[in-house]
Amino acid sequence: MKILLLEHPRQVAGARCNDIANTPLSSCLITGYAAGMLARQGHEIKIVEGYLERLSYSEIYREVKEFGPDMLGVHMVYHWERDEGLFAFLGKIKAEGTAPFIAAYGFYPTFAFEEIMGHCRAVDAVVMGEPEYTLARLAEKPRPVVHLQEIPGLARRDESGATRVRRREPVANLDLLPPPVRTDAMLRLPEINIEGSRGCYGGCSFCYINAFYARGRAGGRGVSRWRGRGPESIVAEIDELTAALGQKDFYFVDPNFFGPGRQGQDRALRLASLLKERGVRFGIEARVNDIHDATIAALVEAGLRHILIGLESGGDESLQRLNKMTTVAQNERALRILRRHGIEPNVGFIMFEPDSSLEDIRMNFAFLERNNLLKDLPVTANVLYHPQIILQGTRAYHKLREEGRLKLLATTYEGTAGFADSRVAALARIMSGITNCLFMRMDGIWSGKTQGPKEAPAVYARLNQALIDCFTGTLHQLESGKQFSPAEMAALVHEAEREINTLSR
Ligand code: SF4
Repeated sequence: MKILLLEHPRQVAGARCNDIANTPLSSCLITGYAAGMLARQGHEIKIVEGYLERLSYSEIYREVKEFGPDMLGVHMVYHWERDEGLFAFLGKIKAEGTAPFIAAYGFYPTFAFEEIMGHCRAVDAVVMGEPEYTLARLAEKPRPVVHLQEIPGLARRDESGATRVRRREPVANLDLLPPPVRTDAMLRLPEINIEGSRGCYGGCSFCYINAFYARGRAGGRGVSRWRGRGPESIVAEIDELTAALGQKDFYFVDPNFFGPGRQGQDRALRLASLLKERGVRFGIEARVNDIHDATIAALVEAGLRHILIGLESGGDESLQRLNKMTTVAQNERALRILRRHGIEPNVGFIMFEPDSSLEDIRMNFAFLERNNLLKDLPVTANVLYHPQIILQGTRAYHKLREEGRLKLLATTYEGTAGFADSRVAALARIMSGITNCLFMRMDGIWSGKTQGPKEAPAVYARLNQALIDCFTGTLHQLESGKQFSPAEMAALVHEAEREINTLSR
């Protein structure tokens, strides 16, 4: 069978350019893994990199037409609004018979399958969760509707047109999956993405990693849904890639590099011992409670160069609300250990959650300040603004909906609850306006497309301080009882925008 897998074009909405997590990093290999499995089954596979290659829909149309697939799989990624361009494209190729069967896969369709299938009749089925075995079954079958019901891991329409769903158990042994197919566009990235594990043993209220892989909602407390590849298998893949490409820079896309407990640390130590002699460099993402001195020392010796840790908050009550299962003391300990080993981490931080009080915000700021996390402009802009994003599949989404507080945005996939405290809402709105303006101003420079200002470090230091002053000044006024009218908030953002433009010239 001829199967085309599409990574569709994505745009970043101007008002959301400081928001992250529209799809987890691990999804960047989802198409590659699907292609690996389908290729092993003997199918003819083509991947079209509409996003990385910045293709237009007319260019993608030509590729689809030329290839003539029996099935088109589309890795559907939410980018802050309903993607009418994509749905129109799928409608066109389906109507004219260019793609007789269309299946969507990925995080967004796994949670928003009902809405997508209701809205876009061109989508015949949605693959729920991991796509490898479900797509392989789909490719085996002749596909009149009656046969789809036999395939687990699929959302499909029944004879009456109603949507029916069957989940599939997560892949038990990741080492049995064929390695992912990596396209030229992927190999042009500065680091080669590699997957060492799937899932997480945590259960953060804002995260849907486990709900994607498993049947129920996000992973329950104490239930480990983390699955790791064997260190030997990971190193064999790295060896193959370095031998074929000479590339030595890797990034583990795992949401949680470490498995739980002692076993998780031992596995990381084993991997470190295997990587030590190979001269590779790599990055990882981790929970703060997994940062231990001996393991980090071994990983740094093996080539660990950067790490993202999910701090999320500077207050223990807030960490409990987020069900992070970590403490502020663990956050600070992780920062100390990493810095002792020469690593300045990237940090995940949620400044504004729906139930934040002004005291929580003050506590967050004090935490960031005493831990030297307000020294670097891109980091400052991130941590002083990030609100909790509420996506379908997360505990927060379900809880807020049950409480009747969830308001849906453009799709069922994302909601907002507003803020319980109107003063927190005012600060979040002002910081959102200012940081979005900063990110738009810096977009070309930070993505390397345009040159930075002369004397960039001094300029960035001034911008950094201006951002901190704006945050603390507004927070102080709110604490003193000031109420901002919409016009005053807009004026503050406008003033900051002018200052950003002046300082960054
Ligand atoms: S630790 Fe990270 S991957 Fe795990 S549940 Fe929390 S946010 Fe998700």
